[in-house]
Amino acid sequence: MATGRDSPSPRRVLILGGGFGGIYTALELEKRFGDRADVEVTLVSRDNFFLFTPMLHEVAACDVELTNIVNPIRKLLTRTRCEVTDLDGHSRQSL
Ligand SMILES: Cc1cc2nc3c(=O)[nH]c(=O)nc-3n(C[C@H](O)[C@H](O)[C@H](O)COP(=O)(O)OP(=O)(O)OC[C@H]3O[C@@H](n4cnc5c(N)ncnc54)[C@H](O)[C@@H]3O)c2cc1C
Repeated sequence: MATGRDSPSPRRVLILGGGFGGIYTALELEKRFGDRADVEVTLVSRDNFFLFTPMLHEVAACDVELTNIVNPIRKLLTRTRCEVTDLDGHSRQSL
């Protein structure tokens, strides 16, 4: 019978930054490994939100509300462990 001790250590992936590169990497990893207990993905970012920059000018022009282009990271990533931390070393909060 398998015990916790017999389980191999999980493979850990650390993603730095919650911008386009980081968020889409995490979304892809959730798609591929989301149901696997042996893969742990952690995303570290300074902000707890993702800003959709291509529509930023529409906010400046008052065509859309800012809330339409800002999304909380925890809502976008349901299986990724997320930490809001300035990589310079200051932990601000948990998502
Ligand atoms: C107004 C505007 C419009 C744009 N329009 C387009 C477009 O139409 N099409 C297009 O292809 N590109 C566009 N871009 C460019 C696009 O936004 C960038 O190419 C893209 O965001 C780069 O992705 P990235 O993941 O490398 O960096 P970013 O998206 O900038 O993400 C960097 C992440 O790292 C985090 N971070 C940074 N420093 C630290 C730190 N010290 N500690 C912790 N976290 C940190 C930030 O909080 C952020 O979450 C636009 C950019 C702007 C500003």
